[in-house]
Amino acid sequence: MDIAALNSTLALRSRVLKWMCLCLGVLSGIFAVFNLLINDFLILGALEVVFSVYCFGIYFYITKHVFKLWQPVSICTFVSLLVVLGSYLSSVYNALFVWTLVLPVLYYLLLGKLWGFGLSMSLALLQAIALITKESVAPYSPSNLGLNLAFSYVTIWVIAHVFETSRASFSKRLEDLAMLDPLTGAGNRLAMNQYFEIELSDKENLYTMVMDLDFFKKVNDEFGHAIGDSVLIEVTKIIKSQLTKEGAVFRIGGEEFAIFVAHSSASEAANIAENIRHTIENNKLIIAEQLVSITASIGVIAYSGNETLKQTIKAADDRLYQAKNNGRNQVVFNDPPQGKQLNQAS
Ligand code: GH3
Ligand code: MG
Ligand code: MG
Repeated sequence: MDIAALNSTLALRSRVLKWMCLCLGVLSGIFAVFNLLINDFLILGALEVVFSVYCFGIYFYITKHVFKLWQPVSICTFVSLLVVLGSYLSSVYNALFVWTLVLPVLYYLLLGKLWGFGLSMSLALLQAIALITKESVAPYSPSNLGLNLAFSYVTIWVIAHVFETSRASFSKRLEDLAMLDPLTGAGNRLAMNQYFEIELSDKENLYTMVMDLDFFKKVNDEFGHAIGDSVLIEVTKIIKSQLTKEGAVFRIGGEEFAIFVAHSSASEAANIAENIRHTIENNKLIIAEQLVSITASIGVIAYSGNETLKQTIKAADDRLYQAKNNGRNQVVFNDPPQGKQLNQAS
């Protein structure tokens, strides 16, 4: 499955930004010609030339690179100031203020709910000040123009807000469905690929662990599959509680988990693994009024910087195999950079 396809928000915003830049670049150029040569609004015309060039610059950047947050923010801010300035300087007769109604949609599509709300609110205030301080709004009556503009703006703002909120939550639900194990809430293999290939762009001081519950078949046989399921949920909670913010856990088999600890040290990684093992052993799980004892074996490996995900998991799995062979309920940690091997039996 294409991992990038899951990040639909980024793809959508990139596409909207690209076409928006092209569209606004052309329109701003046309407005600049009118304002410089016909209307004699030199400041506005000059700003429109700059904006047009800026839009084309960002357009060409996006055709080759992933956009940065400041690019849509600057486009939205720039176009908003042009619309406010234009509405203030030109006669209402020119109807430039109509562009105000387009902007909330642009904000929400390009920047999401929070930015969308903040920018829409700021534009409403600025535009209100610009129109109220104008000497005349002829040929309209001030109250009619104000009310119609305010009501249509609020309608578009609410629609843009509701649309973006629903789209974002739908997209998040889809992503969770594709990436999370439905039983435990830990990431699945697809999420692990995404984490390793994209989120962990800097794999400095990364430690990989593979953990397997000991004699889990017996838990199922003795207490039933449903209680076995609850044990898996509790074990996932224990792993998450022991992880630092730079760590992540993925369920890669029935009762097998891959755990990554990034930007860490050998001793910190060894401590985390040992704490997970120790907590699972000592946390007597009472599920459906039954006391369930369980232990875990963990293999840990320091990432050397070159292996693929498959290779680092295989290396940690080899240590796990050693832990199982050594009697289970233990951590086996090989740290190749220091050539040190550390077996932590319980
Ligand atoms: P070992 O110490 O060698 O790992 O022993 P084990 O019994 O844990 O070994 P094994 O990997 O052979 O057994 C894993 C068991 O996990 C088999 C299967 O019934 C159980 N299992 C796998 N997935 C699930 C699940 O989603 N829920 C439950 N309840 N059990 C599961
Ligand atoms: Mg097992
Ligand atoms: Mg297993």
